[in-house]
Amino acid sequence: MKLSEYDISHPYAATLVSSSLLTPKGARDEVRHLVLRLPELGFDFLEGQSIGVLPPGPFDFGAKHHLRLYSVASSSRGETDHDTISLCVRRCDYLDEISGERYPGKASHYLCDAQPGDTIQITGPYGSHFAMPPDKSCNMLMVGAGTGIAPFRAFIRRIYEERGEWKGKVRLFYGAKSGMEMLYMNELEKDMALYYDETSFKAFEAVSVRPILDPTPALDRLMLDNQTEIWEMVQDPNTYVYLAGLTSAAEKFHKAMATMAGSEEAWAAKREELSAEGRYSELLY
Ligand code: FAD
Repeated sequence: MKLSEYDISHPYAATLVSSSLLTPKGARDEVRHLVLRLPELGFDFLEGQSIGVLPPGPFDFGAKHHLRLYSVASSSRGETDHDTISLCVRRCDYLDEISGERYPGKASHYLCDAQPGDTIQITGPYGSHFAMPPDKSCNMLMVGAGTGIAPFRAFIRRIYEERGEWKGKVRLFYGAKSGMEMLYMNELEKDMALYYDETSFKAFEAVSVRPILDPTPALDRLMLDNQTEIWEMVQDPNTYVYLAGLTSAAEKFHKAMATMAGSEEAWAAKREELSAEGRYSELLY
């Protein structure tokens, strides 16, 4: 769906409660964890959904707004209480391919520069296809990189808020450019470890082999190192597969899955079967 097709006719005013760094000061990339207080009525969201952010103008020539989407990183029970929501935002720049100039991305810079107390116009929530499995006996295979961790943090918080009751296997394959960019799982911020229960949850981490030349983490290698378990999970009719983050990481995921399936065609057929059964969801950008 194109950004121009999202309904933004009912924006809500949220208030920034806090903004904290998930990456170390001075690192090449900046990613922040933002907590917003929602208006009291009307904004109910689910894990796996995204919200729209409408930064103030001026806008690009001819544009009426600059809508950008961000995945919800908190469970539907909220970040600190029911009226709060969290986002995981990377400060992005836009490279003009003609001039070669680098420009600051309007929405991500606006969010990363915002101060506690600031009002932020939000819309949505959007997208209900990237949803939790129907019951606690289901297995979850989650694969993503970079800010693609956001919806998985929401899932994991939700699963383990129901502590001890989740019976399925939960596996997270997560990649980053470097160890410090393992968002919510680096030395600065080990937040994820607070939620999961080690009997059902395992996280596998991949970092990029050459962060400058090839910033995409070695997700394919990590997955192939664990292919027996992954392929068994994919064959199990109780497993739900989720893929989130940048399309460059998705390419590595599909490459690894094609190797496990025996060919690209065999993986495409398996993926279609999973999708038809509602057991395969992507959230890519
Ligand atoms: P723009 O003027 O749009 O230009 C930014 C440039 O950065 C573009 O070249 C773009 O391709 C690239 N880029 C966009 N997002 C990323 C990223 N995360 N990492 C590296 N490069 C990127 N972004 C988040 O930070 N966190 C999220 O949880 C998140 N969830 C999203 C969910 C959905 C469904 C979609 C469609 C996008 C999501 N994004 C997320 C991306 C976000 O919507 C914006 O595209 C991004 O913040 C850049 O917007 P901007 O206005 O700052 O820059």
